[in-house]
Amino acid sequence: MIQFQNTLAFARELDQQDELSKYRNEFHFPKVNGKDVIYFTGNSLGLQPKSAQKFVDDIMKDWKELAVEGHFYAEKPWWDYHERFAKPLSKIVGALPEEVTVMNTLTVNLHLLMVSFYRPTEKRFKIICEEKAFPSDQYMLASQVRFHGLDPKEVLVEVKKRDGENYWRTEDVLKTIEETGDELALVLMGGVNYYNGQVFDMETITKAAKDIGANVGWDLAHGAGNIELKLHDWDVDFAAWCSYKYMNSGPGNVSGVFINQKHLNKKDIPRFEGWWGHDKERRFLMEPEFIPMANAEAWHLSNAAVIAMAPYLASLEMFDEIGMEKLIAKRNLITSYLEFVLGEIAKEVDSSFEIITPSNPKERACQLSVFLHGEGRALFDYLMESGVITDWREPNVIRLAPVPLYCSFEDMYNFGQLLKAGIQKKN
Ligand SMILES: *Cc1c(COP(=O)(O)O)cnc(C)c1O
Repeated sequence: MIQFQNTLAFARELDQQDELSKYRNEFHFPKVNGKDVIYFTGNSLGLQPKSAQKFVDDIMKDWKELAVEGHFYAEKPWWDYHERFAKPLSKIVGALPEEVTVMNTLTVNLHLLMVSFYRPTEKRFKIICEEKAFPSDQYMLASQVRFHGLDPKEVLVEVKKRDGENYWRTEDVLKTIEETGDELALVLMGGVNYYNGQVFDMETITKAAKDIGANVGWDLAHGAGNIELKLHDWDVDFAAWCSYKYMNSGPGNVSGVFINQKHLNKKDIPRFEGWWGHDKERRFLMEPEFIPMANAEAWHLSNAAVIAMAPYLASLEMFDEIGMEKLIAKRNLITSYLEFVLGEIAKEVDSSFEIITPSNPKERACQLSVFLHGEGRALFDYLMESGVITDWREPNVIRLAPVPLYCSFEDMYNFGQLLKAGIQKKN
């Protein structure tokens, strides 16, 4: 274990030893007061890779010069543009290429996947999720339940945090699964909680739920491109994630989905269908009967939104080049360094910051959520004016995501100094 120091020289030394430091140059940083910002909100919207522009321009050019012919004769033909995602994405989420594809947006995909994997019966109808899930997930779940003519109050079982504790205990999730027993139809939770940054033990939870015969899905909005995933080996039924957070694909962009191999090529699976899910060899014969693709693309509805997908593909190339292992190694180091810096600053200003993200490295990833006791919104405003982009959640939590692809150790040191100045200014 390295002995950290809260000095500029030490932070710079870590940057020098960092194999990934050169990737910072591959991104556009917003500027405040003429300087690149310290960007802590890659968990909300990742920075723009410099290569993204060209990928979009290529499509605009092909459209201009080839028009409809671009579907087949563009350099990257549009009709199967999405196929380029399966292989690199499958490595990121730990899947077989046929289990992964990109389509629609996250909440839309969760709805579509619920159609297939939430099939309540009189006996088995309950859904386990975490308390205070991301609002869109809550609306999605409740509306799906009502769609089946059921009452969300009777169906949704929320796993709660214990009084006075900041994160969920795996044992409490397992206990809830056990207690729900054979009434449990589905577990659908966020793999990484958006608020406190907690990483759930997906392997253990999935196994427990599968063992009693339930389906398991994970919302990986904060997981994809951030943590190690083995969706296939863990025997997860389905998962979906947005691409604009850690995967840097651009605002509101397309979502990735995982559907376990065992659910592919099944005739009897209920699914909402459209022409892009039809067998591609016969797609343009425009036959009345639906013949599904043999892979996750069977769930596609519409032809690919290629202009939107282009920046995602650009970003994926970078992920593919680096690999998750190196990203995760740097993520662990930089998150620990940020935690250390926060601790040092707290001592210097005689204040206390309560980190509500688990301190166990296995239960956290690229995010520290910090309760700024006694500090108000003014501190947040000061940080923003000083070029630190973070986000604020009421009552006074800031979420800090030191994204390993483009954040530096020097950023962490500088942030500490700005935080100190902001607190001292008030006092
Ligand atoms: C970001 C996020 C979403 C956003 O969904 P969209 O459909 O892409 O707007 C949904 N769920 C979770 C858990 C998220 O973190």
